[in-house]
Amino acid sequence: MEHYSEDAVRRQHIIMADLLHAIERDEFVVYYQPLMNVTTKQITGVEALIRWQHPTLGMIPPVEFIPLAEKTGVINELGKWVLRKASEQIKSIHYEGFSDIRIMVNISPLQLQEPNFVEMVKQILEETQLDPHYLDLEITENIETQPNQNILKKIRELQSMGIQISMDDFGTGYSSLSKLRDLPFDTVKIDGLFLQNVPINKKNATIVETLVALGEKLNLRVVAEGVETKEQLNFLIDKRCQEIQGYLLSKPIPFNKLKSFLKSKIVFDLI
Ligand code: C2E
Ligand code: MG
Ligand code: MG
Ligand code: MG
Repeated sequence: MEHYSEDAVRRQHIIMADLLHAIERDEFVVYYQPLMNVTTKQITGVEALIRWQHPTLGMIPPVEFIPLAEKTGVINELGKWVLRKASEQIKSIHYEGFSDIRIMVNISPLQLQEPNFVEMVKQILEETQLDPHYLDLEITENIETQPNQNILKKIRELQSMGIQISMDDFGTGYSSLSKLRDLPFDTVKIDGLFLQNVPINKKNATIVETLVALGEKLNLRVVAEGVETKEQLNFLIDKRCQEIQGYLLSKPIPFNKLKSFLKSKIVFDLI
């Protein structure tokens, strides 16, 4: 058992109770963080990252409320809301002429266990008219879940529709390697934790180099998260990592700033 102070426990209770109504009260927003292909220097997609503007507690980060949404089961409703909002907004970005931007949406392993998950995704794609080839679902490993035949079947069904599946936070989760072996991922996203002080930190540099090589050998697209410096970027280019995401390129930005970011030539000044 973890121990929390009374205030922390009270805060958790408030958050859990308020989560139920926060969707209908329209308190969530989706921010978008761009990904860049280091060879073509093109923005290939954006990751949807949820934010909660709580009326009394202020901005609550997802690392605080997502685990509580998982605990209470609200994650299914919340995950559906994010998927719909992100699909809608990216569809409108496609209409504005940025037709090759893909959207990465974080999916809780609990959502994947829902019997109607694939149907729900299908329904949202129909509603929003987003081409499934531009949707990429990121599966996080924050919960101990055994890959089973049921999950495998769902992933294959999603992929047969054209949807891509990414392993998020690669290297940090429970049994990363066996999941990589047992589930047919299209992409691995190397956790930003391993990018810290690369290339000066030799241990981290070796881990990153090895994870990139592993992804390449398994024919997966390799994305590095948490890229903050030019030194990290140059190291990743040297090791043939395909795509990067991180503050060096851009922090997550609200939807109303996304179009002007995509129009700007910021990417070409980077390298
Ligand atoms: P994640 O999916 O691994 O997302 C990357 C996190 O790293 C984001 O934090 C992003 O803002 C942050 N980040 C990006 N670049 C950098 C960088 O260069 N340096 C540093 N220090 N951080 C960087 P954020 O937005 O706070 O989200 C945290 C986590 O919450 C996400 O990790 C994801 O696991 C979860 N999350 C966010 N949105 C959703 C969602 O809609 N559904 C679910 N199930 N989980 C979500
Ligand atoms: Mg993610
Ligand atoms: Mg994640
Ligand atoms: Mg991650």
